[in-house]
Amino acid sequence: MKEVNSVLTDYGTTIFTIMSALAVEHKAINLGQGFPDKDGPLDILTEAMLAIKNQSNQYPPMMGIPELRQAAAEHSKLFYDIDLEWESHTMVTSGATEAIAASLFGIIEPGDEVVLIEPLYDCYLPIIRRAGAIPKLVRIAPPDWQLPYAELEAAFSKKTKLILFNSPTNPAAKVYTIKELEFIADLVKKYDAYAICDEVYEHLVYDGRQHVPLITLPGMAERCIRISSAGKTFSMTGWKVGYSVGAKKLIEAASRAHQFLTFTTPPNLQKAVAFGLRKDVAYFKGLGVEMEAKRDRLSKGLTSIGFEVMDSQGTYFLVADYRSLSFDCDDVNFCKELTVDAGVTALPFSAFYQAGPDSGVNHFLRFCYCKQDELIDTALERLSNYFNGISRK
Ligand code: PMP
Ligand code: GLN
Repeated sequence: MKEVNSVLTDYGTTIFTIMSALAVEHKAINLGQGFPDKDGPLDILTEAMLAIKNQSNQYPPMMGIPELRQAAAEHSKLFYDIDLEWESHTMVTSGATEAIAASLFGIIEPGDEVVLIEPLYDCYLPIIRRAGAIPKLVRIAPPDWQLPYAELEAAFSKKTKLILFNSPTNPAAKVYTIKELEFIADLVKKYDAYAICDEVYEHLVYDGRQHVPLITLPGMAERCIRISSAGKTFSMTGWKVGYSVGAKKLIEAASRAHQFLTFTTPPNLQKAVAFGLRKDVAYFKGLGVEMEAKRDRLSKGLTSIGFEVMDSQGTYFLVADYRSLSFDCDDVNFCKELTVDAGVTALPFSAFYQAGPDSGVNHFLRFCYCKQDELIDTALERLSNYFNGISRK
């Protein structure tokens, strides 16, 4: 029989699925896949339930219900002073993943080059390659994850169609600085390129930092799509309601793909997310404050166990180097060992590199801290017992 598509089959099953299944199998505490262990605000859940009961459950408009598109535009205005007309600059999608896929499929021509920064979120490369584009990768390196300016510039060429840019970034938990954003914006303009900006962690930035969308920089309004997700903003990762806002031309291009990918997103969940986006500013600020405390809790605990924990400036995640614990096995095997023997699951950091275990970056773990305090404490206790109880190499 004929082969199926090799680009996608070569990627196998995502690390999130693999490690979550292993966690279930061994009854381990899952600090791998990024999802909160408690649902978001009750008023948003109630809004969804009421909408299911009282409103239409048939196809909503292809671009999203007007209420959510308006709320998305208002949200961008309120937080970042971005001026958008909801009818032409917004689109609702089934999660940020679909927004990313629709943007890439809608904008890329086969043979185009796409600039990316490693380590990167897992769906970027397969979609880009499936769309026929050529990825041009540059790396940010630990512990500071600073943008390598010269290398980034070298990755751009006249064939560059776009940069797929993520800040706050998963998995490195870096929030890009204004200086770095300005450099990226200048390259995008210089090479007449576009930017797809994955900003799902926009409200999860810590230590007084500000998230600055690339689209707010001079000359970028016509070149950017900014993507966010109710999954992160309202702690309902299973809802898969996302949205894109930005340049009319790019939203239109993305909509050409969206109409053939998912076409629409559940109308009742859209209604509830519209309600959520109109919540008081205090809700969005509170989200970051709560998560920052969890970051500190996990970070302190891992440090006292002996991990070298890197600064987590935003997101749900922190990165820990385990060489200081005198373990020198690779991260994939170490994650399996911790799941089976310590009862705690983390993710191997190398999974976020194109070359995976051959990336040369295979001594870090990514831990997720969007969990209840008791769960974080139990995970730390298990890890502490494990590292204190076994013989060191
Ligand atoms: N981008 C990043 C950086 C993510 O971490 C995630 C995971 N939630 C997504 C996109 C996907 O978001 P969604 O679940 O809304 O598709
Ligand atoms: N974004 C989540 C993470 O990075 C997982 C999403 C998924 O499982 N596909 O952990």
